[in-house]
Amino acid sequence: MNPSAYLIRIGEITLKKRNRSRFLNALVQAIRQRLAGLEFHLEPRHKKLLLQCSAAPDLIQSRLSTVFGITGISPIWKCALDLEAIQNLSWSLCQDKRQSAKDFGVRVRRNNKNFPIKSMDCQAQIGSFLLKNGLNLPVNLKSPDLAINVSLEFKEAWVWTETWPGRGGLPQVGDSRHLLLLSGGIDSPVAGNLIQKRGGTLAAVYFHTPPYTLDAAKEKAIDLAHVLAGFQVQLDLYIVPITRIMKRLLSDCDNGYSVVLARRFMMRIATRLAEQHGYHALVTGENLGQVASQTIQNIHCINEGVPLPILRPLIGLDKLEIVGLAEKLGSFEISIRPHQDCCSLFAPEDPVTKATLTRIRSMEEPLPIVDMVEEALAETEVQTIRPQIIH
Ligand code: ATP
Ligand code: MG
Repeated sequence: MNPSAYLIRIGEITLKKRNRSRFLNALVQAIRQRLAGLEFHLEPRHKKLLLQCSAAPDLIQSRLSTVFGITGISPIWKCALDLEAIQNLSWSLCQDKRQSAKDFGVRVRRNNKNFPIKSMDCQAQIGSFLLKNGLNLPVNLKSPDLAINVSLEFKEAWVWTETWPGRGGLPQVGDSRHLLLLSGGIDSPVAGNLIQKRGGTLAAVYFHTPPYTLDAAKEKAIDLAHVLAGFQVQLDLYIVPITRIMKRLLSDCDNGYSVVLARRFMMRIATRLAEQHGYHALVTGENLGQVASQTIQNIHCINEGVPLPILRPLIGLDKLEIVGLAEKLGSFEISIRPHQDCCSLFAPEDPVTKATLTRIRSMEEPLPIVDMVEEALAETEVQTIRPQIIH
């Protein structure tokens, strides 16, 4: 028996005061977009959203799994606003879980104060009905394994026993646009997704070094961009070839500095893209101390001269925490496909860990930086990626 409807919980949005309706509208729009092609009705109810949709529950669950702003979804079953009807429905909803559950509890919320029985009494009466019918479990009101939730509404009662966890966060309101430096690695997609989680909309840039990095490496970045696009209406991916820049750095500069110098070029190119397309910040997957290039001295040198905020959402996470997030995002399997990105390929044996701006300036001074940047930009390929519809 499919649920009658779904109660969508919206967490943090309810705490917003002046901006609540903006976030709520953005969430409603995101849900509508995700459910496109299905027949449904969505309306606000008690600081939640009530969704009616006759599609298969699994399909609804997977379609809505990439909407930030949802903290949980409870499939609900409706019955008449009558104690006996509620008791019978509760009993039938217990059937699947009663063999495996350790204990149970009934929770009643009386949104309709005209209902003649107070919530506590209602809970007790439903609980004793279930026990009498043969629900052979101890009662646990605090955190029951099997929770039977009842909401007494104005014209009907709702009953549910499970809530699918949502991703939390905030929906995209559109005025927070970010450019993610997306490599084929584990970290940058996770960093981008954390920005999406806080309501940011992403575009991404991948720096390609053909023929040193293969098309398979570029495919990895494209596939990762598809994962991130699943959280948006669309995502623009810029693919910028930087082979000439890398060769020049390797021939003209101290090789120990090649990674830091390459990162500075990536920041310059990303800044130009941000200026051209109106992104407010750059995002990277950098993490303090993870690899040689990511010391605070090197990060200082990579930052220098960048006029935009550079967001590094992973800065304080452990690798295992990042891997956990990558698995939850669905990017991990793509990221570990064996293809080197440009930096690991060009990485020197002995990379500098305490780069100084004086050294960097002396190496960059003879370089035609503006031309090098413009040349790479002129060869940029753009792909607009739309989320795949789950059928
Ligand atoms: P990742 O797992 O994201 O590749 P990482 O731990 O390998 O990160 P680095 O290789 O030092 O770290 O890269 C640091 C950050 O610089 C990346 O997270 C990414 O944001 C950016 N970056 C590195 N290489 C590229 C590239 N080829 N294209 C776009 N961005 C890149
Ligand atoms: Mg990397």
